[in-house]
Amino acid sequence: MTDSFWIRADHLWSDREGRFTPGLLRIEGGRITARAEAPDTPPAGARVIDMGRRYVLPGLINTHVHLEFSASAKPLDEFYAENDEERLMRAMGNAHRMLLSGVTTIRDCGSSWSMLALARRPDLAPVPLPTILCSGPPMTVPAGHLHFMHGIVESDAEILAHIDRIEADGGRSVKVMASGGAMTPGSDPVQTVFSQDKLDLIASEARRRKLPSVSHVLSTESIKRSAQAHMDSLEHCAFYERDADGMMVRRYDPDIAAVVRDSGSAMMANLSTATRTLDAVRSRGSATVQEAHALRQFDVMVENFGRFVTLGVPMVCGNDAGVRDTPFEDTWMEISWLQRGGLSAVQSIRAATSQAAKTLLIDQEVGQLEASLSADLIALETNPLDDSEAFREVVFVMKAGKVIADRI
Ligand SMILES: [Zn+2]
Repeated sequence: MTDSFWIRADHLWSDREGRFTPGLLRIEGGRITARAEAPDTPPAGARVIDMGRRYVLPGLINTHVHLEFSASAKPLDEFYAENDEERLMRAMGNAHRMLLSGVTTIRDCGSSWSMLALARRPDLAPVPLPTILCSGPPMTVPAGHLHFMHGIVESDAEILAHIDRIEADGGRSVKVMASGGAMTPGSDPVQTVFSQDKLDLIASEARRRKLPSVSHVLSTESIKRSAQAHMDSLEHCAFYERDADGMMVRRYDPDIAAVVRDSGSAMMANLSTATRTLDAVRSRGSATVQEAHALRQFDVMVENFGRFVTLGVPMVCGNDAGVRDTPFEDTWMEISWLQRGGLSAVQSIRAATSQAAKTLLIDQEVGQLEASLSADLIALETNPLDDSEAFREVVFVMKAGKVIADRI
Protein backbone atom coordinates (compact mmCIF):
# COMPACT_ATOMS: atom_id res chain seq x y z
CA MET A 1 0.00 0.00 0.00
CA THR A 2 1.49 3.31 -1.04
CA ASP A 3 1.07 6.17 1.33
CA SER A 4 -0.87 8.29 -1.13
CA PHE A 5 -3.86 7.14 -3.17
CA TRP A 6 -7.43 7.94 -4.14
CA ILE A 7 -10.76 6.28 -3.48
CA ARG A 8 -13.43 6.65 -6.14
CA ALA A 9 -17.07 5.71 -5.65
CA ASP A 10 -20.47 6.31 -7.22
CA HIS A 11 -21.83 6.68 -3.68
CA LEU A 12 -19.79 8.56 -1.10
CA TRP A 13 -21.60 9.44 2.13
CA SER A 14 -22.08 13.16 2.70
CA ASP A 15 -23.00 13.69 6.32
CA ARG A 16 -23.93 17.31 5.77
CA GLU A 17 -26.35 16.51 2.96
CA GLY A 18 -27.54 13.22 4.44
CA ARG A 19 -27.11 11.42 1.11
CA PHE A 20 -24.59 9.74 -1.16
CA THR A 21 -22.87 11.64 -3.94
CA PRO A 22 -20.42 10.40 -6.59
CA GLY A 23 -16.91 11.50 -5.83
CA LEU A 24 -13.32 10.97 -4.79
CA LEU A 25 -11.29 10.98 -1.60
CA ARG A 26 -7.60 11.70 -1.58
CA ILE A 27 -5.81 9.74 1.17
CA GLU A 28 -2.32 10.64 2.34
CA GLY A 29 -0.50 9.41 5.41
CA GLY A 30 -3.64 7.69 6.72
CA ARG A 31 -5.83 10.78 6.49
CA ILE A 32 -8.35 12.15 4.05
CA THR A 33 -6.70 15.23 2.57
CA ALA A 34 -9.30 16.15 -0.05
CA ARG A 35 -12.82 15.33 -1.18
CA ALA A 36 -13.81 16.02 -4.76
CA GLU A 37 -17.15 15.56 -6.42
CA ALA A 38 -17.63 13.85 -9.79
CA PRO A 39 -16.83 14.55 -12.61
CA ASP A 40 -13.39 15.34 -11.16
CA THR A 41 -10.93 12.52 -11.76
CA PRO A 42 -7.67 11.55 -10.05
CA PRO A 43 -4.49 12.87 -11.68
CA ALA A 44 -2.91 10.62 -14.35
CA GLY A 45 -0.78 7.88 -12.83
CA ALA A 46 -2.36 8.17 -9.38
CA ARG A 47 -3.17 4.96 -7.54
CA VAL A 48 -6.93 4.53 -7.29
CA ILE A 49 -9.09 2.12 -5.30
CA ASP A 50 -12.31 2.03 -7.25
CA MET A 51 -15.38 1.16 -5.17
CA GLY A 52 -17.62 1.26 -8.24
CA ARG A 53 -21.31 1.32 -7.35
CA ARG A 54 -20.78 0.38 -3.70
CA TYR A 55 -21.81 2.63 -0.80
CA VAL A 56 -18.86 4.18 1.00
CA LEU A 57 -19.33 5.55 4.52
CA PRO A 58 -17.16 6.54 7.47
CA GLY A 59 -16.12 3.60 9.67
CA LEU A 60 -18.76 2.88 12.29
CA ILE A 61 -18.45 4.03 15.91
CA ASN A 62 -19.85 1.84 18.68
CA THR A 63 -20.02 3.98 21.82
CA HIS A 64 -20.73 1.24 24.36
CA VAL A 65 -19.02 -2.16 24.50
CA HIS A 66 -17.26 -4.29 27.12
CA LEU A 67 -14.28 -5.81 25.38
CA GLU A 68 -13.20 -8.21 28.12
CA PHE A 69 -16.62 -9.85 28.41
CA SER A 70 -17.42 -13.03 26.49
CA ALA A 71 -20.95 -12.33 25.15
CA SER A 72 -21.90 -15.81 26.36
CA ALA A 73 -25.16 -16.62 28.18
CA LYS A 74 -23.28 -16.03 31.47
CA PRO A 75 -20.38 -13.65 30.81
CA LEU A 76 -19.57 -13.25 34.51
CA ASP A 77 -18.64 -16.94 34.65
CA GLU A 78 -15.81 -16.36 32.17
CA PHE A 79 -14.91 -13.04 33.79
CA TYR A 80 -14.31 -14.68 37.16
CA ALA A 81 -12.62 -17.76 35.68
CA GLU A 82 -10.06 -15.78 33.66
CA ASN A 83 -7.11 -13.75 34.88
CA ASP A 84 -6.07 -10.31 33.61
CA GLU A 85 -3.79 -11.67 30.88
CA GLU A 86 -6.45 -14.03 29.56
CA ARG A 87 -9.05 -11.28 29.55
CA LEU A 88 -6.69 -8.97 27.72
CA MET A 89 -6.24 -11.57 24.98
CA ARG A 90 -10.00 -12.01 24.80
CA ALA A 91 -10.46 -8.24 24.58
CA MET A 92 -7.98 -7.95 21.69
CA GLY A 93 -9.79 -10.67 19.77
CA ASN A 94 -13.15 -9.03 20.39
CA ALA A 95 -11.86 -5.63 19.25
CA HIS A 96 -10.37 -7.18 16.11
CA ARG A 97 -13.66 -8.87 15.26
CA MET A 98 -15.44 -5.56 15.65
CA LEU A 99 -13.00 -3.93 13.25
CA LEU A 100 -13.63 -6.65 10.65
CA SER A 101 -17.37 -5.96 11.01
CA GLY A 102 -16.81 -2.31 10.05
CA VAL A 103 -16.47 -0.67 13.47
CA THR A 104 -13.32 1.47 13.33
CA THR A 105 -13.83 3.25 16.69
CA ILE A 106 -14.99 1.72 19.97
CA ARG A 107 -15.64 3.09 23.38
CA ASP A 108 -15.11 0.46 26.04
CA CYS A 109 -17.66 1.44 28.67
CA GLY A 110 -16.22 -0.45 31.61
CA SER A 111 -13.41 -2.93 32.14
CA SER A 112 -10.59 -3.85 34.50
CA TRP A 113 -7.60 -1.55 35.06
CA SER A 114 -5.40 -3.92 33.07
CA MET A 115 -7.48 -3.39 29.90
CA LEU A 116 -6.17 0.18 29.73
CA ALA A 117 -3.11 -1.39 28.09
CA LEU A 118 -5.26 -1.41 24.93
CA ALA A 119 -5.51 2.37 25.16
CA ARG A 120 -1.83 2.93 25.94
CA ARG A 121 -0.15 0.48 23.60
CA PRO A 122 -2.48 -0.59 20.76
CA ASP A 123 0.68 -0.86 18.63
CA LEU A 124 1.64 -4.00 20.60
CA ALA A 125 -1.46 -5.91 19.51
CA PRO A 126 -0.67 -8.76 17.09
CA VAL A 127 -3.78 -7.97 15.02
CA PRO A 128 -5.18 -4.67 13.71
CA LEU A 129 -7.51 -2.99 16.17
CA PRO A 130 -10.04 -0.19 15.94
CA THR A 131 -9.37 3.00 17.84
CA ILE A 132 -10.34 2.13 21.43
CA LEU A 133 -11.47 4.81 23.84
CA CYS A 134 -11.25 3.16 27.23
CA SER A 135 -13.28 4.15 30.27
CA GLY A 136 -11.34 1.80 32.54
CA PRO A 137 -13.22 0.64 35.63
CA PRO A 138 -16.52 2.50 35.92
CA MET A 139 -16.96 4.53 39.08
CA THR A 140 -19.33 2.66 41.33
CA VAL A 141 -20.26 2.35 45.02
CA PRO A 142 -19.25 -0.51 47.37
CA ALA A 143 -20.97 -3.69 46.10
CA GLY A 144 -22.38 -1.56 43.24
CA HIS A 145 -22.69 -2.40 39.54
CA LEU A 146 -19.44 -3.89 38.13
CA HIS A 147 -17.65 -3.27 41.47
CA PHE A 148 -15.40 -6.26 40.65
CA MET A 149 -13.63 -4.08 38.08
CA HIS A 150 -12.25 -2.11 41.04
CA GLY A 151 -13.65 1.35 40.41
CA ILE A 152 -15.23 1.93 43.83
CA VAL A 153 -15.29 5.60 44.86
CA GLU A 154 -16.93 7.15 47.91
CA SER A 155 -15.50 10.59 48.60
CA ASP A 156 -14.90 13.56 46.30
CA ALA A 157 -11.18 13.00 46.70
CA GLU A 158 -11.54 9.39 45.54
CA ILE A 159 -13.54 10.51 42.51
CA LEU A 160 -10.84 13.00 41.51
CA ALA A 161 -8.07 10.46 42.11
CA HIS A 162 -9.93 7.87 40.03
CA ILE A 163 -10.35 10.20 37.04
CA ASP A 164 -6.70 11.21 37.42
CA ARG A 165 -5.59 7.60 37.23
CA ILE A 166 -7.88 6.82 34.28
CA GLU A 167 -6.38 9.66 32.29
CA ALA A 168 -2.80 8.89 33.36
CA ASP A 169 -3.26 5.24 32.32
CA GLY A 170 -4.46 6.21 28.82
CA GLY A 171 -8.25 6.26 29.34
CA ARG A 172 -10.29 8.60 27.16
CA SER A 173 -13.71 8.39 28.80
CA VAL A 174 -15.17 8.85 32.28
CA LYS A 175 -17.87 6.34 33.19
CA VAL A 176 -20.07 6.25 36.26
CA MET A 177 -22.71 3.76 37.36
CA ALA A 178 -25.35 6.19 38.65
CA SER A 179 -27.77 3.34 39.34
CA GLY A 180 -27.48 -0.34 40.13
CA GLY A 181 -27.20 -2.89 37.30
CA ALA A 182 -28.99 -6.12 36.50
CA MET A 183 -25.81 -8.02 35.69
CA THR A 184 -24.16 -7.61 39.10
CA PRO A 185 -25.52 -9.94 41.82
CA GLY A 186 -26.74 -7.88 44.78
CA SER A 187 -26.94 -4.62 42.83
CA ASP A 188 -30.44 -3.21 42.34
CA PRO A 189 -31.20 -1.44 39.03
CA VAL A 190 -34.02 0.61 40.56
CA GLN A 191 -31.65 2.21 43.06
CA THR A 192 -29.87 5.49 42.44
CA VAL A 193 -26.47 5.30 44.09
CA PHE A 194 -24.73 8.64 43.48
CA SER A 195 -25.93 12.02 44.76
CA GLN A 196 -26.46 15.02 42.50
CA ASP A 197 -23.30 16.62 43.92
CA LYS A 198 -21.16 13.60 43.09
CA LEU A 199 -22.53 13.35 39.54
CA ASP A 200 -22.00 17.10 39.05
CA LEU A 201 -18.40 16.70 40.19
CA ILE A 202 -17.77 13.77 37.83
CA ALA A 203 -19.27 15.53 34.81
CA SER A 204 -17.50 18.82 35.46
CA GLU A 205 -14.14 17.15 36.09
CA ALA A 206 -14.48 15.17 32.84
CA ARG A 207 -15.36 18.40 31.02
CA ARG A 208 -12.35 20.20 32.48
CA ARG A 209 -10.12 17.43 31.13
CA LYS A 210 -11.96 17.34 27.77
CA LEU A 211 -12.93 13.70 28.34
CA PRO A 212 -16.44 12.50 27.44
CA SER A 213 -18.59 11.65 30.48
CA VAL A 214 -21.01 8.75 30.39
CA SER A 215 -23.54 7.65 32.98
CA HIS A 216 -25.25 4.29 33.39
CA VAL A 217 -28.86 5.15 34.25
CA LEU A 218 -31.43 2.43 34.81
CA SER A 219 -33.42 3.99 37.67
CA THR A 220 -35.66 6.97 36.98
CA GLU A 221 -33.91 9.24 39.49
CA SER A 222 -30.47 8.38 38.04
CA ILE A 223 -31.63 9.58 34.60
CA LYS A 224 -32.73 12.89 36.09
CA ARG A 225 -29.58 13.51 38.13
CA SER A 226 -27.22 12.53 35.29
CA ALA A 227 -29.08 14.78 32.82
CA GLN A 228 -28.95 17.64 35.32
CA ALA A 229 -25.20 17.05 35.59
CA HIS A 230 -25.02 17.40 31.76
CA MET A 231 -23.28 14.08 31.21
CA ASP A 232 -22.25 13.76 27.57
CA SER A 233 -24.25 10.57 27.27
CA LEU A 234 -26.88 8.67 29.19
CA GLU A 235 -26.86 4.90 28.86
CA HIS A 236 -30.06 2.81 28.73
CA CYS A 237 -32.51 5.38 30.23
CA ALA A 238 -34.69 2.51 31.43
CA PHE A 239 -36.98 4.32 33.94
CA TYR A 240 -36.89 1.15 36.04
CA GLU A 241 -39.21 0.90 38.97
CA ARG A 242 -40.68 -2.06 40.79
CA ASP A 243 -44.37 -2.92 40.53
CA ALA A 244 -46.57 -4.34 43.31
CA ASP A 245 -45.35 -7.89 42.49
CA GLY A 246 -41.72 -6.82 42.75
CA MET A 247 -41.18 -7.08 38.98
CA MET A 248 -38.96 -4.50 37.34
CA VAL A 249 -40.98 -2.34 34.96
CA ARG A 250 -40.17 0.63 32.73
CA ARG A 251 -42.33 3.63 33.64
CA TYR A 252 -41.66 6.51 31.27
CA ASP A 253 -41.72 9.88 32.99
CA PRO A 254 -42.38 12.77 30.57
CA ASP A 255 -41.08 15.40 33.01
CA ILE A 256 -37.75 13.62 33.35
CA ALA A 257 -37.60 13.01 29.58
CA ALA A 258 -37.96 16.79 29.21
CA VAL A 259 -34.99 17.27 31.56
CA VAL A 260 -33.00 14.95 29.27
CA ARG A 261 -34.11 16.92 26.21
CA ASP A 262 -32.98 20.21 27.77
CA SER A 263 -29.69 18.82 29.13
CA GLY A 264 -27.82 18.48 25.84
CA SER A 265 -26.95 14.90 26.81
CA ALA A 266 -27.04 12.25 24.10
CA MET A 267 -28.68 8.90 24.72
CA MET A 268 -27.39 5.37 24.08
CA ALA A 269 -30.38 3.00 24.05
CA ASN A 270 -28.84 -0.41 23.20
CA LEU A 271 -32.16 -1.68 21.82
CA SER A 272 -30.56 -4.74 20.22
CA THR A 273 -28.86 -6.17 23.33
CA ALA A 274 -29.67 -9.88 23.68
CA THR A 275 -32.47 -9.60 21.11
CA ARG A 276 -31.63 -12.99 19.63
CA THR A 277 -32.69 -14.57 22.93
CA LEU A 278 -36.04 -12.77 22.76
CA ASP A 279 -36.42 -13.73 19.08
CA ALA A 280 -35.97 -17.36 20.05
CA VAL A 281 -38.76 -17.06 22.63
CA ARG A 282 -41.03 -15.36 20.08
CA SER A 283 -40.47 -18.06 17.47
CA ARG A 284 -41.03 -20.82 20.04
CA GLY A 285 -44.57 -19.48 20.47
CA SER A 286 -44.71 -20.11 24.22
CA ALA A 287 -43.06 -18.24 27.05
CA THR A 288 -42.51 -18.57 30.78
CA VAL A 289 -43.88 -15.81 33.03
CA GLN A 290 -40.40 -14.25 33.18
CA GLU A 291 -39.97 -14.46 29.39
CA ALA A 292 -43.39 -12.96 28.73
CA HIS A 293 -42.49 -10.11 31.08
CA ALA A 294 -39.17 -9.57 29.26
CA LEU A 295 -40.95 -9.46 25.88
CA ARG A 296 -43.44 -6.87 27.14
CA GLN A 297 -40.69 -4.74 28.67
CA PHE A 298 -38.75 -4.92 25.41
CA ASP A 299 -41.75 -3.43 23.59
CA VAL A 300 -42.02 -0.69 26.23
CA MET A 301 -38.31 0.08 25.79
CA VAL A 302 -38.70 0.51 22.04
CA GLU A 303 -41.80 2.66 22.57
CA ASN A 304 -39.96 4.87 25.09
CA PHE A 305 -37.07 5.23 22.67
CA GLY A 306 -39.53 6.56 20.09
CA ARG A 307 -40.70 9.16 22.60
CA PHE A 308 -37.11 10.37 23.12
CA VAL A 309 -36.67 10.51 19.34
CA THR A 310 -39.78 12.67 19.05
CA LEU A 311 -38.32 15.02 21.69
CA GLY A 312 -35.21 15.41 19.53
CA VAL A 313 -32.72 13.86 21.98
CA PRO A 314 -29.47 13.09 20.09
CA MET A 315 -28.98 9.33 19.75
CA VAL A 316 -25.70 7.47 19.60
CA CYS A 317 -25.14 3.87 18.56
CA GLY A 318 -24.00 1.40 21.19
CA ASN A 319 -25.05 -2.17 21.90
CA ASP A 320 -23.34 -3.27 25.13
CA ALA A 321 -21.45 -5.93 23.14
CA GLY A 322 -19.92 -8.49 25.44
CA VAL A 323 -22.81 -8.73 27.87
CA ARG A 324 -25.22 -11.66 27.79
CA ASP A 325 -25.86 -12.99 24.27
CA THR A 326 -24.62 -9.81 22.59
CA PRO A 327 -21.83 -10.67 20.13
CA PHE A 328 -19.19 -8.22 18.95
CA GLU A 329 -20.13 -8.47 15.26
CA ASP A 330 -23.67 -7.17 15.73
CA THR A 331 -23.38 -3.38 15.56
CA TRP A 332 -25.42 -3.61 12.32
CA MET A 333 -28.32 -4.97 14.37
CA GLU A 334 -28.35 -1.92 16.65
CA ILE A 335 -28.50 0.38 13.61
CA SER A 336 -31.43 -1.63 12.31
CA TRP A 337 -33.24 -1.42 15.67
CA LEU A 338 -32.60 2.32 15.91
CA GLN A 339 -34.64 2.62 12.73
CA ARG A 340 -37.35 0.27 13.92
CA GLY A 341 -37.53 2.40 17.07
CA GLY A 342 -38.12 5.64 15.18
CA LEU A 343 -34.90 7.10 13.77
CA SER A 344 -34.76 7.77 10.05
CA ALA A 345 -32.11 5.93 8.06
CA VAL A 346 -30.05 9.14 7.88
CA GLN A 347 -30.33 9.68 11.66
CA SER A 348 -29.31 6.09 12.36
CA ILE A 349 -26.20 6.47 10.18
CA ARG A 350 -25.31 9.67 12.03
CA ALA A 351 -25.88 7.92 15.38
CA ALA A 352 -23.14 5.47 14.39
CA THR A 353 -20.83 8.05 12.77
CA SER A 354 -20.93 11.85 13.12
CA GLN A 355 -23.17 12.11 16.20
CA ALA A 356 -21.22 9.38 17.98
CA ALA A 357 -17.97 11.21 17.17
CA LYS A 358 -19.41 14.45 18.53
CA THR A 359 -20.58 12.83 21.77
CA LEU A 360 -17.20 11.13 22.25
CA LEU A 361 -15.47 14.49 21.58
CA ILE A 362 -13.55 13.05 18.61
CA ASP A 363 -15.37 14.75 15.74
CA GLN A 364 -12.16 16.49 14.71
CA GLU A 365 -10.73 13.01 14.11
CA VAL A 366 -13.44 10.69 12.73
CA GLY A 367 -17.13 10.38 11.84
CA GLN A 368 -17.28 11.87 8.34
CA LEU A 369 -15.66 11.51 4.93
CA GLU A 370 -14.12 14.95 4.87
CA ALA A 371 -10.66 16.45 4.50
CA SER A 372 -8.43 16.39 7.61
CA LEU A 373 -10.18 13.39 9.22
CA SER A 374 -8.70 9.90 9.62
CA ALA A 375 -9.17 7.63 6.58
CA ASP A 376 -11.49 5.24 8.44
CA LEU A 377 -14.09 3.99 5.99
CA ILE A 378 -16.24 1.06 4.97
CA ALA A 379 -18.13 -0.04 1.87
CA LEU A 380 -21.49 -1.76 1.57
CA GLU A 381 -23.11 -3.65 -1.29
CA THR A 382 -26.57 -2.27 -0.62
CA ASN A 383 -27.88 1.22 0.05
CA PRO A 384 -28.35 1.75 3.81
CA LEU A 385 -30.95 4.43 3.06
CA ASP A 386 -33.15 1.68 1.57
CA ASP A 387 -32.15 -1.33 3.64
CA SER A 388 -31.96 -1.07 7.45
CA GLU A 389 -29.83 -4.23 7.57
CA ALA A 390 -27.29 -3.06 4.97
CA PHE A 391 -24.50 -2.85 7.56
CA ARG A 392 -24.71 -6.61 8.04
CA GLU A 393 -22.59 -7.06 4.90
CA VAL A 394 -19.59 -4.77 5.17
CA VAL A 395 -17.41 -5.69 2.18
CA PHE A 396 -14.48 -3.34 2.69
CA VAL A 397 -12.87 -1.86 5.81
CA MET A 398 -10.10 0.73 5.88
CA LYS A 399 -8.54 1.99 9.11
CA ALA A 400 -6.26 5.05 9.00
CA GLY A 401 -5.59 4.41 5.30
CA LYS A 402 -4.80 0.71 5.72
CA VAL A 403 -6.99 -1.94 4.09
CA ILE A 404 -8.19 -4.24 6.87
CA ALA A 405 -10.76 -6.30 4.95
CA ASP A 406 -11.50 -6.48 1.25
CA ARG A 407 -14.34 -8.81 0.34
CA ILE A 408 -15.29 -6.98 -2.85
ZN1 LIG B 1 -22.58 -1.60 29.57
